[in-house]
Amino acid sequence: MPFYVVQVAVPVPLRRCFDYLPPAGEQEDTWKPGQRVRVNFGQQLLTAIVVGTAHTTDVPTGKLKPLLERLDDEPLLDASQLTLGRWLARYYHHSPGDVLELMIPALLRRGGSLQEAQEQSWAILPQIDSEPQTSEPQTNPELLSKPKTALRGKQQQALWQCFQQQPVWTHAKLTAQGFTLAQLRRLAELGLIETLQRLPIPAIAPLRRDDLPLNEEQHKALMQLNQQLGRFQPSLLEGITGSGKTEVYLQHLKQVLQRGQQVLVLVPEIGLTPQTVQRFRERVDVPVALMHSGLNDRERLQAWCQCRDGSARILIGTRSAVFTPLPDLGLIILDEEHDGSFKQQDSVRYSARDFAMVRAKQAKIPIVLGSATPSLESLHNALTGRYLHLKLTQRAGNAKPPGMKLHSILHQPLTFGLAQPVIAKMQQHLDANRQVLVFINRRGYAPLMACQECGWLAECRRCDARLTLHQSPLHLHCHHCDFQQAVPGFCPNCHSDKIRALGQGTERLQDELSMLFPHVPSTRVDRDTARNKQAFDGLLQDIHAPGKRLLIGTQMLAKGHHFPAVTMVVIVDADAGLFSADFRGMEHTAQLILQVAGRAGRAEHPGEVWIQTLYADHPQLNLLIDNGYHALALALLQERQQQQLPPYSHMAMLRAESPQRHLAEQLLQLARQFLQQQSAQCRNQPDQLSPLVLVGPFPAIMERRAGRFRQQLQLFSGERTGLHSVLDPLVDFLHQQKGFHQVRWHLDIDPQDT
Ligand code: ADP
Ligand code: ZN
Ligand code: ZN
Repeated sequence: MPFYVVQVAVPVPLRRCFDYLPPAGEQEDTWKPGQRVRVNFGQQLLTAIVVGTAHTTDVPTGKLKPLLERLDDEPLLDASQLTLGRWLARYYHHSPGDVLELMIPALLRRGGSLQEAQEQSWAILPQIDSEPQTSEPQTNPELLSKPKTALRGKQQQALWQCFQQQPVWTHAKLTAQGFTLAQLRRLAELGLIETLQRLPIPAIAPLRRDDLPLNEEQHKALMQLNQQLGRFQPSLLEGITGSGKTEVYLQHLKQVLQRGQQVLVLVPEIGLTPQTVQRFRERVDVPVALMHSGLNDRERLQAWCQCRDGSARILIGTRSAVFTPLPDLGLIILDEEHDGSFKQQDSVRYSARDFAMVRAKQAKIPIVLGSATPSLESLHNALTGRYLHLKLTQRAGNAKPPGMKLHSILHQPLTFGLAQPVIAKMQQHLDANRQVLVFINRRGYAPLMACQECGWLAECRRCDARLTLHQSPLHLHCHHCDFQQAVPGFCPNCHSDKIRALGQGTERLQDELSMLFPHVPSTRVDRDTARNKQAFDGLLQDIHAPGKRLLIGTQMLAKGHHFPAVTMVVIVDADAGLFSADFRGMEHTAQLILQVAGRAGRAEHPGEVWIQTLYADHPQLNLLIDNGYHALALALLQERQQQQLPPYSHMAMLRAESPQRHLAEQLLQLARQFLQQQSAQCRNQPDQLSPLVLVGPFPAIMERRAGRFRQQLQLFSGERTGLHSVLDPLVDFLHQQKGFHQVRWHLDIDPQDT
C-alpha cells in the first residue's frame, strides 16, 4: 500500500491542518472529508475532522503521529458544509479546526456517536396483520416464526425476549445489559423493532389557524418574495413594528414547504419567545425544531439530527442555528436583522447574518432579512440594489402607530426621575385600565454608592467601573466582570455612615413607582427577574393578566414581545446613547428607542411614547421622532460616507489585553508598524489597492476590565480584498512575537462594538 497521511482539522488556534498516519491496513479511499477522528495533540486527546489525504508531508516520517480512531463511517459534515467552513476560516482568519467545531453539536465534538444520539430508544413495531385479540400480549404472528429462523445467536434471541416483555427500551438500558448496537440494528432490519426519536413536544397543543387576509403592502411584499423561490436573492423587508412582517414570513414560507423544502428562521436571542414559536406552530402542519441557548446538549443534538435527516421541516433558532445541516433548505428568514446578538463576541467572531447570506448564496436560495430598524449595512445594500427592498409602512389590522413625543427635562422638577406631565399622563392611562411600560436600560437598584462626607464611590477592584447596588438580595455587583461584595455599613475611607445610593436602576424605579401609583400592580423584567426561561414565562403571564399594570424593564422588555394592553411607553432617559464614542452609537440608540416605542398601542387602542431628554433640540433625535427611522438612517449613511466609515469602507479591529498596561499597547504598536510596511508594499504594486487606514492603538472605552488593560487598533480599507490580504500575514506575525504570552489578542472582522 503506498504511503499516505490523513490531513485533519484540529480544534486549536493554529490556522492550519495537521497530518497523521492512518491505522495500519486502512485503505486511503476509505477516508472521506467530514469524518471525525480521535487524535493526540500535544498532551490532549481531541476530536478532529478529516479534510483529505496526501502522499507527501512536511512532517519528518519519524515524527508523524498515528491517528487513534475513526469515529464516523460516513462523513458527519457534507461537502457544502466543509466549503462553508473554509469560507468561515478564511473570512474570519480563524483556525479551520475551531471553525468546523462551530458546525458540530457539543456532544459530537466530544466524540459521541451520531447513532446513539439519534437512536435514543427502541420500540417493538406495531402489528401489521393483527390477529384477533387474545389475552396474550399482542405480537405480530409472522414474528412468532421469524425470530426462530432470522435471529442469529442467543444474544439476538435474548434481546427479542426483552422486547416481548417490555415494548420500549432506552438504548442506554439495553447496552448496559450487554446488547450491542449491531444486534439492535439487526432486529430493526428484520422489521421487529424501530428506533424512536423524541420529537420536541410543543408546550401548548397546536391550534390550526388560517392565514390572515393581507393588506395591500403585505400582499405586494408576499408576491415579490414568492417570485424569488429557487434562486439566490436577498431581500430586505423593512416594516415598522406591528406592520405584519411575521404574517408575511409565514405565508411565504408555506410556499417553500409546499415545494418540499426546509426553512431556517433565525431570530435574536431575546426574540425566541414561546409566543413566536407558538405562532409558527399553529400555522404550519410540519415538525418545527428549535435551537437556542436554553437547550441542553442532548436536546440540541436531537434538534440537529432532526434537521439533518429531514424530519424537521422548519428550524427556528438563534445565532448558532445558522450552522445546522438542512439538506433541503429552500429559504432563510432572519428576523430583527439589525440585532447585535447575531454577532458572536468571542472565539470565532462571526456574524450569523453575513454567514447566512453566504450560505444562501451557496445553496442558491432566497434569504429575507426583516427589521423595523435595519442596520445601515443592510439598508445600504437595499438602496444600492443588491437586495430587493420591500417596505411595510402601515401597522397591520386596526392598530395605529404610536405618537412619539420628546419631553425636555431641562430645568424641570423631577419626581423619581419623572417629569410631572409624564406622571399625569401615566395616571390617565392607568385610570383607563391600561398598561404603561417604563423603560430604563439599567438593572439593579442604583448605579452608584457614594459617601456623602468624603465623596468615596464603590468601585470595582478589577474594572474601571462603579459597582451597582442591588437590593434583592442586598449586595454590590460589577456588571462588567461579575465581581460581587457585601454593602459596607460605613464608608471605608472616612468611616462615616452617610453612604447613599445615587441614581436609578430598574429595582429602584419599581419601588418608587409603587409609591407614586399605590395599588397598581407592577412587573419588572430584567436579567435579574427573568433569570431563566421559566421565570421569564411567569413574568409574561403576569403581563398578560387583564387590568392596569406598570411594566418596568430593560431592553429585555423591548424586543419582540406583543403586549396588547400597553398604550403608553415612557423612556426615562434617552440621552445615554446620544454622545457615544462608538460611531454606531446613534444607530443603536435609534433602533432601541423604536423597539421600545413599538411596544405601545399594538392592539386596537392607540399608543403614545414619551421620551425624556435633556437635549430636546438634538437634531438627529428630532429627525427620528418627526420623520422616522428611515429618514434618520439616510442621514447617518451620509455621515458614514463622508467619513468613509462602514458600510462605505470595510473594517477590522485588533484587540489586545494584558495585566500590565504597556504590554497590550506594545504588541499593537508592533502590529501597526507591520501593517504600515505591508500596505506600503501593496502601494508599490501596479494593481494598487486602496490604502489601509489605521487608527490607534488606543485604550478601549473601559480600559481595565476584570484586571486586564484593553487596547485596540482599528483597520479600515475601501476594499475588502485589500483589507483581508494583510490580515493573514498579520495573524502570522502576531503568533511569532516573543515575550507577549501574557497578552491575549484577537482579530474582529466587521466589529459591531467599536
Ligand atoms: P411585525 O412582525 O411586523 O412586528 P406582526 O406580524 O407581529 O408584525 O403583526 C402585528 C399584529 O398584527 C399581530 O397581532 C398580527 O396577528 C396582526 N396582523 C398581521 N397582519 C395582519 C393582517 N393582514 N390583518 C390583520 N391583522 C394582522
Ligand atoms: Zn467617606
Ligand atoms: Zn468589575
